[in-house]
Amino acid sequence: MAQENSALVVFSGGQDSTTCLAWALSRFERVETIGFDYGQRHAVELSCRSVVLERLRALRPDWAGKLGGDALLSMDVFRQLGETALTHDVAISMNENGLPSTFVPGRNLVFLTLAGAQAYRRGIKRIVTGVCETDFSGYPDCRDDTMKALQVALNLGMQTRLVIDTPLMWRTKAQTWKLALKLGGAALVELILEHTHTCYRGERGERHTWGYGCGDCPACLLRAKGYAEYLRDE
Ligand code: ZN
Repeated sequence: MAQENSALVVFSGGQDSTTCLAWALSRFERVETIGFDYGQRHAVELSCRSVVLERLRALRPDWAGKLGGDALLSMDVFRQLGETALTHDVAISMNENGLPSTFVPGRNLVFLTLAGAQAYRRGIKRIVTGVCETDFSGYPDCRDDTMKALQVALNLGMQTRLVIDTPLMWRTKAQTWKLALKLGGAALVELILEHTHTCYRGERGERHTWGYGCGDCPACLLRAKGYAEYLRDE
């Protein structure tokens, strides 16, 4: 039986999933994390994961007491399937079908299914993911309808009652920064700025006001724009 007050957070080491992790830690009694190494060009985000986990524990002892195990699954299969701008050194551009070349088909479908399997095994009720269809890159596997359909599929396929929580679904990037401030104060915002990674190109050379990154890939542009709006509204 799944424990009601437990959550498994899909945690990449980026801004959104770190905010989701703080959201889960402020709500649930027991929180675990899961991440995926799928040969992403920005594999640097994976090394941010352990740093962020460590810093969150240090920031809030009450969160440290709730934060349990972390699983990092190896998913080289996406590279084997073929080229995308997230897994291979090809240009980040718009495809003919209107989707960006950074779209990895099936990625979130597979991630959420594996998170469901892990939640099932660990007796965890809720799966928390940072997908968002407000300020987003247009990936269809981040949509609310996709997540609702996946929740139904997982529950039918595993005869269980898991819940997929998507706290960022209807938030702009600026509102996501605001949520971080509400959950963990200025110290959490600073932790996210300094230690999370978003840039598709995996660049961490230069520290901007909004954190590290190349400054012109779609992920950096969204993060920078959101942070500027957040500062303006504060
Ligand atoms: Zn970038």
